[in-house]
Amino acid sequence: MQYTHKFFSLMFAGMLAMASASCSAESDATAATGPVDSKLTEKNINAELKKAYDKYKGLKEGANADYIPALDKVDSNIFGIVLVTVDGKVYSVGDIDSQVSIQSISKVFTMAKVTEEKGIDALPKNVGVDATGQVFNSIYAIEQNQGHEMNPLVNAGAITTTSMVSGKSYNEIWNKILGYYSDFAGRELTVLEDIYKSEAATNQRNQAIAHLMYAYGHIEGDPLQATDIYTRQCSVGVNAKDLGMMAATLANAGTNPVTGKQLVKPEDMPEILAVMATAGLYDDAGKWLYKTGLPAKSGVGGGIIAVSPGKFGIAAISPPLDAAGNSVRAQKAIADISAALGGNPYETQPYGK
Ligand code: GLN
Repeated sequence: MQYTHKFFSLMFAGMLAMASASCSAESDATAATGPVDSKLTEKNINAELKKAYDKYKGLKEGANADYIPALDKVDSNIFGIVLVTVDGKVYSVGDIDSQVSIQSISKVFTMAKVTEEKGIDALPKNVGVDATGQVFNSIYAIEQNQGHEMNPLVNAGAITTTSMVSGKSYNEIWNKILGYYSDFAGRELTVLEDIYKSEAATNQRNQAIAHLMYAYGHIEGDPLQATDIYTRQCSVGVNAKDLGMMAATLANAGTNPVTGKQLVKPEDMPEILAVMATAGLYDDAGKWLYKTGLPAKSGVGGGIIAVSPGKFGIAAISPPLDAAGNSVRAQKAIADISAALGGNPYETQPYGK
């Protein structure tokens, strides 16, 4: 396995100082919120957020990613959850201010940008939309099908996707990507320079991946520029509220529910969500979908976003990861909350009941 991090439990690390749960809704709604849905009331949402936060805040499983040295230094205690309904109401619990690097969650938004610029067929044609069943930075997965039958959410597909963003210069491409992410979050995002520097100094594997994708004809132009812009996009700083808003924009057919800005064409959203469902949690995507039914995306910074289409976006941040590279607490919290609020899109009732 190429992806490595500490597998030992942090059970005895003595990390007792947890932020106390602060649960709030930035809205004055009293009845049902968003679509007519009896479970999605302000009271229910706040109660479920708090319940999951209290249940998992003491959980010490997993470990920060350490293959990017700066990630190992991030406070493992950060834990925050934010749910945003498609009518723009924000519910939160725990630490919603601490920023972590967005990491692989960024791949969804670069995928959306390329889809908007080049059309819905461009990415299936150039990288594919199939799960690889391999770790996210697998070279074996590239070799299997000469860089095809992959998807924009694993490193090879993602670096290639970044290389497809149009622009005459590095800066033009970069500013476009950062501006697009910021529109999803509804505020101006910036790069966490220490994370960027740390990953840029240690991303030889991603450079090799980019060269292979170039050799197989999927990347046009300079593979090292694509890798560097990709590294920068992974280093964008986000807090739980930013991620919640980004997820809610995806849940709201591609329009930011607070600013009203359309970022993805509604007709392109099902395909983007389908790729998230297939490959969002890497080689554990199947297990996640089985459990939650939610299109989602994780990042090694500790964030996870998940989308209940037409209902809400939800995000959680907690840096310690499991063996597949997904945040332990974020997975558990989002799964519980979504189940309690009827977020699973596959959950229906027989006709007439
Ligand atoms: N920047 C990280 C990398 O390329 C992103 C990986 C991740 O979040 N899974 O390895």
